[in-house]
Amino acid sequence: MQQSADIVIVGSGVGGSSLAFSLAETGRKIVILERGDYLNDTPEARDDVAIFQKGFYKSTEEWLGTDGESFLPGNYYYVGGNSKFFGAVMYRYRKEDFGARPHLDGGSPGWPIQYEDLEPWYERAEDVFQVRGAIDQDPTEPPHSSPYAHPPVPDEPAIAAVRSRLQKAGIHPSSLPLAIDLEEWLKRAETGWDAFPNTGLGKIDAEAGPLARALLHPNVSVVTGASVSRLETDASGHRVTAAVFVKDGVEQRIRADVFAVAAGAVQSAALLLRSANNAHPSGLGNSSDQLGRNFMNHNTTAMLTLDFRAPNTAVYQKTLGFNDYYNNDNEYGYPLGNVQLLGHITGNILKANFPVAAPAWVTKLIARYAYGWFLTSEDLPNPESRVMIKDNRIVMHWIRSNMRAHEALIKKTRSVMRKAGFPIVLTHTFGRKTTSHQCGTARLGNNPALSVVDPNCRSHDIENLYITDASVLPTSAAVNPALTVAALAIKAGAAIGKG
Ligand SMILES: Cc1cc2nc3c(=O)[nH]c(=O)nc-3n(C[C@H](O)[C@H](O)[C@H](O)COP(=O)(O)OP(=O)(O)OC[C@H]3O[C@@H](n4cnc5c(N)ncnc54)[C@H](O)[C@@H]3O)c2cc1C
Repeated sequence: MQQSADIVIVGSGVGGSSLAFSLAETGRKIVILERGDYLNDTPEARDDVAIFQKGFYKSTEEWLGTDGESFLPGNYYYVGGNSKFFGAVMYRYRKEDFGARPHLDGGSPGWPIQYEDLEPWYERAEDVFQVRGAIDQDPTEPPHSSPYAHPPVPDEPAIAAVRSRLQKAGIHPSSLPLAIDLEEWLKRAETGWDAFPNTGLGKIDAEAGPLARALLHPNVSVVTGASVSRLETDASGHRVTAAVFVKDGVEQRIRADVFAVAAGAVQSAALLLRSANNAHPSGLGNSSDQLGRNFMNHNTTAMLTLDFRAPNTAVYQKTLGFNDYYNNDNEYGYPLGNVQLLGHITGNILKANFPVAAPAWVTKLIARYAYGWFLTSEDLPNPESRVMIKDNRIVMHWIRSNMRAHEALIKKTRSVMRKAGFPIVLTHTFGRKTTSHQCGTARLGNNPALSVVDPNCRSHDIENLYITDASVLPTSAAVNPALTVAALAIKAGAAIGKG
């Protein structure tokens, strides 16, 4: 079967949907090919046993490590991509993240564009994701050309008390920027949203935000259950001519003038590597040999702080964070990272992640007094940290970096929490299965010898190929990536629209 469009986008997650939103008004025929289906509302959507203990929403696709072990990554394939499950924290990268800077275990190379270049696109991304926030609480907040359109999601009383305890301990907590319509979210059920799937409009994920806006235009459509297996080029290799995908077991082909790959940092690299042909023997758009390399994943740790004098009565919890150690902590002299609340940890969530088998009543009792935190430090780009294909399977060889900075962040946060009155502090550092913040496999840059796409996300090698997802991030910074992915995709859409 032969089909055609003006623009084909592979993947309907944050990058793909933001690109469709950016291009929708051009009137050009845009077809989004999405491997997954729409995520329907069923009782499991707010059932913490189904989600966290039974892995109801998890894919069965395993990836291989270079140690030969296969593993099930935390990667989701639905319309809206990983953002269906995201914590909805929509930080801008900090201004300092765009410049080169030293880290405890190396250096971050900086970006080919500066914060000011991306600022107008951050504005548009915040608008389409309806981000709630405050610009005057976090000392690391970069300049905004206008304040957030919506006030921050309110702290619950238990969290307001934690905020005040942190302030007394000398910390500067600030409201998290959140793509959450609280009333709408709680209407469905009184739960947190972090790692819970969104089946309505309470979490403004890629489907509820940019995709919904794009689909208001009749020239935009989504084909679900369409897994793209390769892209084809003309004989010269200068232009992509078709995307080949499998839907309902049948191979199909769609032609277009422009192709954008936004399948997520691991899957996009895999797709382009799998598309190798005579003109591009090592993968499409890979003359730099950087495709699949510089894979980053953030160094992240869950921290549980307990105070048996203060039960945690919060339902959703995830409203504050702090960046006191983000740029320079005044002790180590290097950037250490970000600290933010996790969603409320229930007994069932704790049981799913408990280091030993424990009865439900034990984890429920602990959870009653527990506050969960998420600590993030920058993972630095390294060409040897990479995604590869072996026998058509994805191989993820993650070489994590900068762990001394992450350990310092844990140490400093532990001491702050003790000072703030939490005598018990437990930690668990995440490994390769936690691929939530994957990025960097098709880095953006000005130099075609060292990068895969230019600052408008266009392939250096192939004139009508764009990559518009987390792959293009040249550095991981230490804040959540989705807003930056969206801003870059919207910027790319403006460039494509002019062409
Ligand atoms: C539990 C969890 C919590 C998170 N919390 C946050 C947070 O609070 N803040 C934040 O900024 N980020 C968060 N993230 C990360 C955020 O979701 C990602 O950074 C973001 O979704 C990346 O966008 P993307 O476009 O690169 O990929 P995705 O959004 O994952 O989109 C990729 C899409 O491509 C589709 N696809 C894959 N392969 C193919 C193929 N071959 N053919 C067709 N379609 C394909 C997938 O099904 C998917 O829809 C979280 C992630 C997870 C999993």
